[in-house]
Amino acid sequence: MKTLTAKVGNIKIGSGHKIVVQSMCNTHTNDIAATVKQCIDLYNAGAELVRITVPTMSNIEDVKKIKNILSEKSYNIPIVADIHFSSKIAIGIAPFVEKVRINPGNFHKDHNKACEEFAKLVQVCKQYDTAIRIGINHGSLGERLTMLYGNTAEAMAKAAEEWISLCKENDFYNVVISLKASNTIVMVKAYRLLSERMKEDGLVFPLHLGVTEAGNGDAGRIKSCVGIASLLSEGIGNTIRVSLTEDPLEEIPVAKHIADRYDNLKQSSLIKSHIDNKTAYLSYRDNNKEIIMLDLACDFGKSLLDRKIDNIVLNDVEYKENTIPVKADEKLKNYWIDELLQACRRKFYRPEYIACPGCGRTMYNLEKVFADVQARTAKFKDTIIAVMGCIVNGPGEMADADWGYVGEGNKKVSIYKKHEAIVKHVDEDKALDILVELIENDNKNIKKQS
Ligand code: SF4
Repeated sequence: MKTLTAKVGNIKIGSGHKIVVQSMCNTHTNDIAATVKQCIDLYNAGAELVRITVPTMSNIEDVKKIKNILSEKSYNIPIVADIHFSSKIAIGIAPFVEKVRINPGNFHKDHNKACEEFAKLVQVCKQYDTAIRIGINHGSLGERLTMLYGNTAEAMAKAAEEWISLCKENDFYNVVISLKASNTIVMVKAYRLLSERMKEDGLVFPLHLGVTEAGNGDAGRIKSCVGIASLLSEGIGNTIRVSLTEDPLEEIPVAKHIADRYDNLKQSSLIKSHIDNKTAYLSYRDNNKEIIMLDLACDFGKSLLDRKIDNIVLNDVEYKENTIPVKADEKLKNYWIDELLQACRRKFYRPEYIACPGCGRTMYNLEKVFADVQARTAKFKDTIIAVMGCIVNGPGEMADADWGYVGEGNKKVSIYKKHEAIVKHVDEDKALDILVELIENDNKNIKKQS
């Protein structure tokens, strides 16, 4: 799809340019050495833009130092400042970075005041040639929009349209838009709606694609492929981030594989397919087992999301282990199919997890906590459980989670039931027991009532 082009340092995002792969540091921004190292590692691995969180005014100085060190080391890495609520921080950092990521709706509860702050930021970005990503998230749409449109894809598209018209009023076009959700159906629908409306309007801004809080492991990878590839296959999307609750370096090979497929640099490992009675019968062959899993999700996630097919049968699946060809067994094939169906929300064979990727705000060892939560809650099949790294944004970003485990800092955790914190300031070493007990009791009460 033909779009405007956003310029982020030496990187161009938009039609005619290849899909830009990006990631985000999960170091604390005031740990300058660790953040510089992670920026370089991510860049060397293939991230063309690197995002750094800027939670406080004092972090502006940290980012300036990080940029100086990178430049002394001859690393010309475009840096994206991640801002959550404060227009003051966004305006303060904008002259020193290549792009700022904001959700302007979070600048102020009063929409008019939020618009005023956004207009001020736009003026600074115009002056310093800084790009803006307007980052709308399904989990944090705000009361005004959800009252009007519900917590829906429509509300997300509307939010983006409002900020786009303000950009146009201010004659500012160095903009990328994202509409992330953890729910792949909502995510794909929101981007499709916005793309359609921008096309009708005649001015199409480039889009940053991502499935937010996708989690970890195979599940996080499959979910990301489903959301991102469904849209790229329709020509929607210009830059991508695969968000995993893992070391951010792990995101890059997945993102690069997806980007290369839709930049026509790579082909799917699918070797045979036919569809009969809404079931796809497939065979795959590749040296690498993981590539087959990613390709399966990229090739057929969209058909499952759109209900063009209802099921998948994997026939011959062949990969190599230590250069020896191996045929995938039924257990592995069924596991991939179950995971893909769950990512497309066509089957819930295990709990659904929402877990943030972590960033400089993360208050605990997120990867370990998430793995522990998964291990202890695997039995709660029809439950959505969120594990979030910080109390500032975590609760707002949990979207439709039934339960939330949120790091407060100082080894304390808050436990949420839907959007209400029902246990606060609990010690980290007791929090998981309490969460499991709460879910068990709740399930017993539901059984009694039914
Ligand atoms: S919820 Fe997670 S990713 Fe989002 S700001 Fe907090 S720690 Fe960072």
